[in-house]
Amino acid sequence: ENRLIIHNVGKTYRRGRRALDSVTLSLGNGLFGLLGPNGAGKSTLMRSVATLQRIDTGSIRFNDIDTQQDPGPLRAQLGYLPQDFGVYPGLSAVRLLDYLAIVKGFTDARPRRMQIDQLLERTGLFADRHAAVSEYSGGMRQRFGIAQALLGQPRLLVVDEPTAGLDPSERNRFHQLLCGLSEQMVVLLSTHIVDDVRNLCRQMAVLDHGRLRFSGTPEALVQRL
Ligand code: ADP
Ligand code: ADP
Repeated sequence: ENRLIIHNVGKTYRRGRRALDSVTLSLGNGLFGLLGPNGAGKSTLMRSVATLQRIDTGSIRFNDIDTQQDPGPLRAQLGYLPQDFGVYPGLSAVRLLDYLAIVKGFTDARPRRMQIDQLLERTGLFADRHAAVSEYSGGMRQRFGIAQALLGQPRLLVVDEPTAGLDPSERNRFHQLLCGLSEQMVVLLSTHIVDDVRNLCRQMAVLDHGRLRFSGTPEALVQRL
């Protein structure tokens, strides 16, 4: 069992208003939904957890790791699918994953290829592994995004608004993939779609103007409305 503890996190951008204001959350294994409208601060929180930017106040801890002291150890256990993922050269999925795995330090060819085949299977892309990722459908691209995030077997997966622009069947397939993964790791999913969270997540939070408006189960949120 893993635990991500976000404690009193605050962030103000140099030009702009406060993006996060005293946000506190505790997440165990499973799919956790972060719901909020545009500008709520979701991406800021996701990037902060992914150690892509610093926070001004508070702390972000994963298991024994304090990311503010040193982001390195968490990065080794982290998978991240950014909101704007989708810039590809003309490489096939298998070659692109191979390249990304080498960059991540997997220099041993045989275990690397085994890992990549497993990830392609797991994300349902194995049959299309030799097609260019740039030719993939939106849903396939997002599943490829998960495959690359899973390189190195992370214990924390951060997925930022992944289903924007996907049709319902692609969305459903993507959600099933996340549900399966979340049995073994902490999955933090941000979205502005209420139904995504309601149908998928046992635990959730609502962010608005950088502040936490709610955290708990989707049922508890519905009772409040
Ligand atoms: P969300 O992901 O919920 O749409 P964001 O975290 O992207 O919210 O944005 C939260 C607030 O911070 C917004 O007011 C946004 O304009 C601002 N913001 C986000 N990124 C930056 C940045 N790099 N520089 C300045 N302001 C930013
Ligand atoms: P801005 O406030 O303009 O968005 P930041 O001050 O957040 O920019 O700077 C982000 C940079 O700081 C990144 O390059 C990141 O790698 C680096 N960094 C160093 N230590 C940490 C840390 N503990 N957590 C997050 N980012 C860190």
